[in-house]
Amino acid sequence: MSKRIAGPEIERLIQLLAKVPGLGPRSARRAALHLIKKKEQLFEPLSAAMNEALEKVRVCSVCGNVDTADPCSICTDPRRDAGTLIVVEDVADLWALERAAAMNVRYHVLGGTLSPLDGVGPEDLNIAGLINRVAEGGVGEIIIAVNATVEGQTTAHYITDQMADMGVKVTRLAHGVPVGGELDYLDEGTLAAALKSRTVF
Ligand SMILES: [Zn+2]
Repeated sequence: MSKRIAGPEIERLIQLLAKVPGLGPRSARRAALHLIKKKEQLFEPLSAAMNEALEKVRVCSVCGNVDTADPCSICTDPRRDAGTLIVVEDVADLWALERAAAMNVRYHVLGGTLSPLDGVGPEDLNIAGLINRVAEGGVGEIIIAVNATVEGQTTAHYITDQMADMGVKVTRLAHGVPVGGELDYLDEGTLAAALKSRTVF
């Protein structure tokens, strides 16, 4: 057994911090110590911000984005083109596309990709919600911006089939997205180029 160097409250804080993506046990210890040293400037405001965010965070019932309002601030932004929806796997992809700032449109978050081997079917994703949004009218184009993986492309084909008779143009990302690549890891320039050179499915 390794020697405990701090009380259980601090050990617990380190253990939880170590679960945050990008932090391991070593970085978590360093982060915890930093917080403790910067109690008033950082630890207290961070703790308050986390409590407040925890209380207010919502999943948007329209698009699946996370925000503190439902519908989210993207869905209620009147300056965005509501006639174009970018379909993404995850909120992280939505945020990455927003950072690229290539298009002022709305989104639809699927919550994953079709993966028969892992038992993920259409009913496990927010595909019915997408079909409903298109059926309500007003959507002229769907841009499928899923990862360039086998599952991502399977999902893209499935959605394209579902949209076949709905009178909506279906496009997908073209140049720039490497095969096997994940959107969240691409730079803004690559993402912007991929969006601009989208092609009809
Ligand atoms: Zn929304």
